[in-house]
Amino acid sequence: MLLIGPPGAGKGTQATYIAERFGIVSISTGDIFRENVKNETRLGQAAKSYLDAGQFVPDSVTNAMIRERLEQSDADKGFLLDGYPRTLVQVDYLDEILAAKGYELDLVVQLTADTEELVQRLLLRADRENRSDDTAEVIRSRMELYFTQTTAVTSRYNERGILTEVEGIGSIPEVTSRVSTALDLTLGSSSRQTTTLGAGVGV
Ligand code: ADP
Repeated sequence: MLLIGPPGAGKGTQATYIAERFGIVSISTGDIFRENVKNETRLGQAAKSYLDAGQFVPDSVTNAMIRERLEQSDADKGFLLDGYPRTLVQVDYLDEILAAKGYELDLVVQLTADTEELVQRLLLRADRENRSDDTAEVIRSRMELYFTQTTAVTSRYNERGILTEVEGIGSIPEVTSRVSTALDLTLGSSSRQTTTLGAGVGV
């Protein structure tokens, strides 16, 4: 399963919920990069300047990292990817990994949210969590990058009929409930369709 959403849309929170519900591991590329930067590993050194600038880490670095992560045995039962793939090159690469393992994607959940609301959330988080990429300027460039790059990625999954959009604005339980309904609808039915759940729908 994939979870896609703009910066600040609450991917991490919902990823934890989904992973628990299905007993699968949740893998966040952003978390892995931040952890490596903190521990000053080689990967961290390669990624740091991109993270700080709010730019994508090069596909070659990100792809190699995700391949290695998916080799670990905790991913054998299935997994949720949060923050990957973010480019079409990554989409193709993930397809190759999955094909080699004989896996198929069940579902892609896209969290949607109003940009202004997201910027406000991120500025608040900057105070709380002290993330180096949560400055106003970097937030703007992450947001721009998301909208320019991700549309191509979500379009690809939409064409395959496995994309579900969920409105990400609301309280955490509200959004969780929408995600939950979306999962039931999509995974519970044999014929998949793109579903859009907005505020108040299916909650
Ligand atoms: P955001 O809330 O900005 O989406 P993430 O925690 O998902 O935050 O990612 C933080 C940073 O990690 C990104 O700005 C980018 O530099 C890097 N990153 C995460 N995932 C990817 C990816 N799939 N490809 C390239 N860079 C990535």
